[in-house]
Amino acid sequence: MLKVSRQADGRPEIFFSVQGEGRNMGRPSVFLRLALCNLACAWCDTKYTWDWQHFDPREQVLEMAAPDAENEITRPNCKHLVVTGGEPTLQQKQLIPLLKRLRDQGIGVEMETNGTVAPIPELALLVDHWNVSPKLESSGNPPSKREVSSAYAFFAALPSADFKYVVHDERDLAEVRGLVSKYNLESEKVFLMPQARDRETLLEKSRWLVEVCKREGYRFSTRLHVLLWGDARGV
Ligand code: SF4
Repeated sequence: MLKVSRQADGRPEIFFSVQGEGRNMGRPSVFLRLALCNLACAWCDTKYTWDWQHFDPREQVLEMAAPDAENEITRPNCKHLVVTGGEPTLQQKQLIPLLKRLRDQGIGVEMETNGTVAPIPELALLVDHWNVSPKLESSGNPPSKREVSSAYAFFAALPSADFKYVVHDERDLAEVRGLVSKYNLESEKVFLMPQARDRETLLEKSRWLVEVCKREGYRFSTRLHVLLWGDARGV
């Protein structure tokens, strides 16, 4: 059974929208938000998926079998699924039956991850694109938790993985440069994205970060959903 985030109306957090970040930004996609995470980022905007000191898992989490999740995900006009969280790799074994069923229907899969858990081979074969978003010191997670070298190196060598860093300031940027060098990441696969939960902050930081990307050869990603809907959930 998959542990899926639950919306206020009790339904699973599975919704049709457009990808708002990274290489596939603007692509119509169904989103599946899974519960549970192995990190605890100070600025996390989905704490309801893992922070059981402030949220009640009985209200926030729904258990779903693969056929039920498949019924919610399949739509006549969308062949792209984004699996997000939380941290999806914590449920990789449970994801395999669902992703196999979706592959049989020609649905492509993009998976978001914090990059601390390498996928098992069976899962890796079922994912077409990885958005790896490693966390920096400013996330508040200790180095031993946010940077797992073996997983980092695995994703660095994977042609289907992009790295997406949420950048708040110059200190974050210096840390990103160090990680790009340490893991030999191609700048073409590195996206810098402003840390912002409202439109004004996003635009202000974007103007700065775009100049950084022009100067250093990284790619810029906005957060389309923040521009369009602010801090709303399930859009
Ligand atoms: S890794 Fe993602 S889901 Fe987990 S705490 Fe950090 S931002 Fe939130």
